[in-house]
Order: sequence, then C-alpha cells, then structure tokens
Amino acid sequence: MGWAVNHPVVTRDEQGPCLCSCSCLAFGTMVQEGNGSFKAIETYVEGDEVLAAGTGLTWAPASVVFSGGTTGASRQKFTVLVRYENTAIAVTSDHLFLLAGADRILRRADRLTTDDQLMSPTGEPVDIKGVHIGDYLAGFHHIAVTGKGTVPDTLDGHLLNTNGVVSADYLVQITARSGDVAGFRSSTQENIPVVGSPDYIARYGPSSLQAPELPAGFTDTSPIRISNNNFADQETGNTFIPAEATHVKVPPHACSFLPPDVAEAKKASPKRAFNDPMAREWTEALFDQHRAFYPDVTYSLDWASDEVNAYAWVENGVRHVDIKGGLVRDADLELEGISLVIAHELAHHYGGPPTGGSGLSCEGQADYHGVRNVMRRVWFGDSYSNTVGPAIAQMAAFFGVPDSPTAPGGSAGCAHPAGACRIATYHAAVDLTGKPGCAK
Ligand SMILES: [Zn+2]
Repeated sequence: MGWAVNHPVVTRDEQGPCLCSCSCLAFGTMVQEGNGSFKAIETYVEGDEVLAAGTGLTWAPASVVFSGGTTGASRQKFTVLVRYENTAIAVTSDHLFLLAGADRILRRADRLTTDDQLMSPTGEPVDIKGVHIGDYLAGFHHIAVTGKGTVPDTLDGHLLNTNGVVSADYLVQITARSGDVAGFRSSTQENIPVVGSPDYIARYGPSSLQAPELPAGFTDTSPIRISNNNFADQETGNTFIPAEATHVKVPPHACSFLPPDVAEAKKASPKRAFNDPMAREWTEALFDQHRAFYPDVTYSLDWASDEVNAYAWVENGVRHVDIKGGLVRDADLELEGISLVIAHELAHHYGGPPTGGSGLSCEGQADYHGVRNVMRRVWFGDSYSNTVGPAIAQMAAFFGVPDSPTAPGGSAGCAHPAGACRIATYHAAVDLTGKPGCAK
C-alpha cells in the first residue's frame, strides 16, 4: 500500500488482533554474497547464498530462507543514518549492529553514539563519525539466514557483512524484540537514550537531528543523498531528510492548546519514546480523517519538536493547524485525546465568536465548539460517543484534574481556562447544555 516499512499493520492471529511491522536495511545497502562479491539488499531472493558468520566472524556461504520488504515507494520515518569511514548506512531504528569489543554484543541502531565502535567483518573496530535520525525516501528490505521460524540460540550464521560492518539478520532482529537471542534482548537497551530524544541531545548535542557532514567523494560511492527540503510529495530517491528539516515554524500570533507556563511544565511529564511509531501514525491518520471534513487547512505534525502544545493560525490567507511532537508523545494522550486537540485547533478557525485579536475563536469557545461541533462532525453516530468519552478522560489525566462535569467559578475571558473548567466545558459540549461561565 506504499506505507513505510514500520507502519503498524493491523492483522490477527490465533491470539486475536495484533500489529505487525518489519524493518531493516535501506535499498542500495551492499551485502556480501556467498561468493565474496556484493549486491544490494533488495536484490536478494530466497535460495540465494549470502556470506554469514557468528560472533567468531568465521565467514561461510549460507542460504537465504526469507527475503522481504517494501516496494520502494515509501517514506521511512525514524531512519537512523550511521556515518563511518568514508561511507554511511541507513537502517530502521531496531536494526542490530555488532559492537567492537571483547563481549561482542548487539546494539540497536537508535541507541548508537559516537562513543561506540562498530565491527568490521575481520574483527577491526570501526569508529562511528555520526549518528542521525530522520525520514528516508526509499524502500527497505531484509533477509533471514538459516532456520526460519526458530529462535536462534546462538548468533552463528546470523551475522552479515552489510556495507563493511557486521549486522544481525532479520531473524535475530524480530526474535530479539520479544525474547533472548544468544543472551541478547532489545528490551535491555530501553534505558539507553534514543537518538534524537531530549536525553540524547543533552548528552551528545543536537547533531543527531541535523544533516550529516559527508566526506568528499561520498556521492560517487554511496547511493545516499541528503535533503534539507521537506517536500510532502517526495517519495523515492534514497534521500535522507534530517529530523530538523521537518521543524514547523509557528508565528507569534498563533493560538495554542496550552498557555506557555502549562506547556513548559508538561515537558516533564512521562512521554512515549521519541521513535514510538504508533503515536505518530495516530496523528497522521487523524489528519487524513479531519482533512476530509476540513479540507481548507494545512495540517502538520512537528515530530522532532519536544514542545508540548498545538497551534492554529492564519498566514497569507492559509489556515494552519500544527501539533508538536512533545504533545503527541505525552503518555496520557492516545488517539482519542489527540483528536480532541485537533478539534480544538480546528475550532479556533471555525468556532465563531467570541474571537481574539487574531480573528480566531477564543480558547473557551475553541474547547466548546471543538467537542460540540468538530468532533460530532468527524466522528459519526456511535463513534462520537466512543471517541469523546475516552478523549475527555485522557484530557482529565493530562490536566491532572477529575473527569467531572462540574464547572468551577470565575471567568477566563478569551484566555485559556483552567484544566477543571476545560473538562467541564467538554462535558457540556457533549450534553449540549451550553458553555459554562468559567469558559466565557
Ligand atoms: Zn487554543
């Protein structure tokens, strides 16, 4: 369907509904064959011979038992680009590299730093010159060697020479998510900061969000291109777009979901991982859904930002709604809560009077109209009830107030009402009982 390779796909098995996703190496990554020559990962088919080894790095030809991936026309989010020697490799976040050192452990790509060293096929350490995260325009492909469907108890025959550094094959990658593979488990790396996250940037600086510096002659030998233009219609071309290039600038006159002091305080509350695929996919699916009803709006998700907020504004006659990554990653909000935020921002545009200085609806009106009108329109019939209930409950948790329809006293004017008032306003919007005084 042209989706990115880690786009969660709903399916079901004997245990009920589940999500499947897959991962690995970008098209064009050269992998060493059984006869010693190299070919691109996406050209491998089942039955091909690939050179494989265990942690002892004794290489021998082995048969490819599984080969799969995307069609090539996809935009892969959370791609990690690792720079070393005079080259680079582009992989999904969960791709596993063998690290140099006596203990020969595997490390997820999204946990690498320039303090780590990769391993060459001959056992030499390979310095990492840069680790970057962003979107990648190309297909992704993976292969598994020997023993499909069984959990490997050693890495023997499951390590590959990928562009001059040693990686684990797909079988190790998928089994390491849920259990031990030769003493390795992905969950053991969960406490290491994710490339591009605020913790990572605090330790290693902002370069992981920026374009890599490429050595002279890089483009003669590598298929990887770098672009700082974030065009929505780009689909292919082995192009890496660093996370920073996807930042969305919000003008100072924009309306927001949270006032600045609340937004700042919410930065400290629990967040999902920087590269959590679900929250990003929820938001983009919600944009698609809202666009059908409110087509005259430019929607954006500023994933790389850790700001906890969302904005609405008009610029050059164009309506904008922008949601920041820190809000989407907040652990209290799920799809329903994020949909309420989008409804609030659309209601700034379409909620009518009272309006503020920018001509958009006041905060209390955006809360009220968002839940009363926008959500009723986007979520038809029963799906309105099924969405708005959890949405308000998530918002109550987010604001740290009871999920109660009782409005406090006072009046916010055109500014943001307090959390308890906002929850009461949402309930009033569902019950069609009129906007409470605190939101006026
Ligand atoms: Zn607002």
